[in-house]
Amino acid sequence: MTTPHTSALSVLKQVFGYRTFRPGQESVIEHTLDGQDTLVLMPTGGGKSLCYQIPALLLPGLTIVVSPLISLMRDQVDALKVAGVAAELLNSSQPKEQQIAVLNALHEARIKILYVAPERLMQADFLHRVQEWDVQLFAIDEAHCVSHWGHDFRKEYCQLGQLKQLFPAIPVMGLTATADLATRRDILIQLGLQNPFIYQGSFDRPNIRYSQLLKFKPQEQLQKYIATQEGSGIVYCNSRRKVDDVAAKLAAQGINCMAYHAGMESDMREYVQRAFIQDRIDVVVATVAFGMGINKPDVRFVVHVDLPRSIESYYQETGRAGRDGLPAEALLLFDEKDVAKIRQWISENDNPERQAVELQRFAAMHALAEAQTCRRQVLLNYFGEYNAKACGNCDICLDPPRQFDGSEIAQKVLSCVYRLKQTSDSDYVVDILRGKKLAHIVDAGHDQLTTFGIGHDSPDAYWHNVINQLIHQGLLRVDITQRAVLKLTEAARPVLKGEQTVTLAVPRLTMDWQQRAKPE
Ligand code: ADP
Ligand code: ZN
Repeated sequence: MTTPHTSALSVLKQVFGYRTFRPGQESVIEHTLDGQDTLVLMPTGGGKSLCYQIPALLLPGLTIVVSPLISLMRDQVDALKVAGVAAELLNSSQPKEQQIAVLNALHEARIKILYVAPERLMQADFLHRVQEWDVQLFAIDEAHCVSHWGHDFRKEYCQLGQLKQLFPAIPVMGLTATADLATRRDILIQLGLQNPFIYQGSFDRPNIRYSQLLKFKPQEQLQKYIATQEGSGIVYCNSRRKVDDVAAKLAAQGINCMAYHAGMESDMREYVQRAFIQDRIDVVVATVAFGMGINKPDVRFVVHVDLPRSIESYYQETGRAGRDGLPAEALLLFDEKDVAKIRQWISENDNPERQAVELQRFAAMHALAEAQTCRRQVLLNYFGEYNAKACGNCDICLDPPRQFDGSEIAQKVLSCVYRLKQTSDSDYVVDILRGKKLAHIVDAGHDQLTTFGIGHDSPDAYWHNVINQLIHQGLLRVDITQRAVLKLTEAARPVLKGEQTVTLAVPRLTMDWQQRAKPE
């Protein structure tokens, strides 16, 4: 007699060709075989699929897998067929004959695993058929799509809550790589899971190096960065217009890249996706629309040109790097202007409840961006995974901030803002500090200011970094209502008068830490 354990292991070996389970797989499989509802929280690449595929092969009847993306279903079904598993998919874009063939096979119980889109599953006539088949398990992939507050809420997913009511005896498994606690709670409630077994995997992706650069000339910084990279990468921007713009400029620099966003024709999007996966293009410049279901293991870097709105999004998007387990990098270009801009967007939402949730989530992202301690610790803490040890593989760990008495430096900046009558943005303030005799500066007579050129001995990046720190310390603020003009705060006065000292971190001007190996 075989125990569930040994038979699961033999399926793992014989069908999938793997020798051992990944963390969590075995316990999820066992609880599922026992008929229990389950919630599987594993990072992307953690091996969620086997959690339902193996029970599907061990249980007598049919397993129905709900998945939001056709491309994702197609990949999975193709892979299963290659492994000799009777798997099929059903969606409305298939030709009629094909759909009928699959339905016939289902009626004859010739299929073990059926992938289906949520809207298709929840059609009344389809649910009727489901009752006739010997369904043993429902697996809801990307289960966070049921959460209203999540980053990719899908209307079609909402109805999946009815499954538990319609088929109380059939176990339901929810699977997601979204880890934040609010979404987790939402999934449990929306899917109506009954006394579920919850597997919470580690969300750490140790091979991803998290780094950050102060953003001041994003296009230039991005080009320089990509020039140092090998392999494929994704560049995320916050708007479609920006995506087109950045992609065009990178292409003009000879970088083999293409744009991707939801405003493009679906043919074109599919083309870009495929070209990326097949290594015909090196870089995709995209909005958040790009990524879900894109199974490319060797993405070497992910750059965020704009600040994401939440740690979940940041984690999901950076998580597309290094799925093969080899070293990969996540670079965030960050400046305070983005913070003001995103707060503004969120405040334009007229649903006050949603606004509050989004502001909270954004505050956590902002805190991560401003962190002066190990970024991985901040990130994992947010997901309720507490690590006492700094990671040794983020920019902060590799190049810890060093502090110095920056009072004089701060005075230079603050007095420059003051002399400019608090009417200029940071770019302009830096040009004045550096003493750039540009036509518009001379025309405005600003080359005559006493602060003109007092910062000529340090590069632009240095001054941008200092300005950013002064904003963080509450000595300057960005007025988003006025083209991101810099204003002095009350707290700046004693500093200008020399009554108060300012401690600054030595600005990091390059990505030196990139060269450093991961310390043991
Ligand atoms: P997820 O859905 O969590 O992102 P997948 O199910 O796609 O992850 O699995 C990621 C990769 O890991 C796949 O290539 C899969 O074949 C592989 N994998 C899963 N489980 C194991 C295992 N026990 N041993 C070896 N490889 C595995
Ligand atoms: Zn670290």
